Amino acid sequence: GATLGILGSGQLGRMLAQSARRMGYRVHTLSPATDSPTGQIADRETVAAYEDLDAIERFARGVDAVTFEFENISSAAADVAARHGPVRPRGEVLHLCQNRWREKHALTDAGLPTAPYEAVESLEALPAAIARLGTPCILKTAGFGYDGKGQARINTVDDAAAAWAAIGRGPAILEGVVDFAAELSVVAARGAAGDQVDFGVIENRHVDHILDVSIADAPLTDAQITRAREIAAAVMEAFDVVGVLCVELFLDQNGGLLVNELAPRPHNSGHLTIEACPSSQFDQQLRAVCGLPLGDTQRQRPTAMANLLGDLWAQGEPDWAAALSAPSVNLHLYGKAEPRPGRKMGHLTASAPDRDEAVRRVQAARAALVRPSNP
Ligand code: ATP
Ligand code: MG
Ligand code: MG
Repeated sequence: GATLGILGSGQLGRMLAQSARRMGYRVHTLSPATDSPTGQIADRETVAAYEDLDAIERFARGVDAVTFEFENISSAAADVAARHGPVRPRGEVLHLCQNRWREKHALTDAGLPTAPYEAVESLEALPAAIARLGTPCILKTAGFGYDGKGQARINTVDDAAAAWAAIGRGPAILEGVVDFAAELSVVAARGAAGDQVDFGVIENRHVDHILDVSIADAPLTDAQITRAREIAAAVMEAFDVVGVLCVELFLDQNGGLLVNELAPRPHNSGHLTIEACPSSQFDQQLRAVCGLPLGDTQRQRPTAMANLLGDLWAQGEPDWAAALSAPSVNLHLYGKAEPRPGRKMGHLTASAPDRDEAVRRVQAARAALVRPSNP
């Protein structure tokens, strides 16, 4: 049988490995961590730094195709792996998505709409950029941000120095604040022959800049759905993606769509596809990366997903039986030993005849996890 290599070892790799194992693949993973969410599922876990190009070369030699679940793999590492077989998506896609300047410029070049933005190289350049863009705006570090880390809101030009200090490191990008009506995502997959599928449009609700709840489908007009899917298809083609990519979108107050950012891999908002669709985002990733035909992405029933952050462990082990007392609820835990606040430990999904009921069920299940505190 064939062996899939995964660079990175978090929950995204774990769920990919579960799909791969189910379809008869062997799975090798490489990351700096031991006993990782992916390593627990893989046939072989290599512990090495992503900067260790010799280790990555040895790893790539032992597998038939390489993909990644950690976004900040260097171009050098992707190039070394590509000497020994396909790396999908290709290193250039990773490189574009690792940096908000490159990503935004590539989107603009492809004719795709984003929030207004300015590249800001230094604190000295920031006041002029604020003046050009207007307030309020958001300063984001160009690389290595996730879950809203490395971002600061700017309400007046006097906030410039504090915002620059708060994001930790430059260079940065300054974006106009979008007064969005909703946040959306489209998870799409593209095969080596250019064949494409997507999972429709998902609605995303954030709390403290971390994804909290996702719902399939988003409540949009047919024209908005078509437009969102067209944008995703255009990104897949413009970036020549082979694999899975998620486009995060804002729906503005006029019903227009703007691209927020891209993730060149399965996305937290697509976790609900495991229960909602015959072939999940991880199944599609496996199929695309390994050169198999893509699968059926049709959503079967309205489904909602709620993230489980480490905060839920504050009073001890959550009450899993209580959450699962509704039969439409499914539980996913990622095998992480330390439940830190803000850390994604797992998620719940619930299906229902309509989307509001799916949201209600998944919220109720999550609320039931927290045991009543002693009087
Ligand atoms: P992740 O990769 O975990 O999705 P991130 O740290 O890369 O997050 P973004 O997606 O850029 O960050 O921003 C996080 C959230 O902050 C967005 O989902 C949105 O709620 C809000 N946000 C970001 N940019 C803007 C903007 N220009 N206008 C309004 N809200 C924004
Ligand atoms: Mg991001
Ligand atoms: Mg985001």
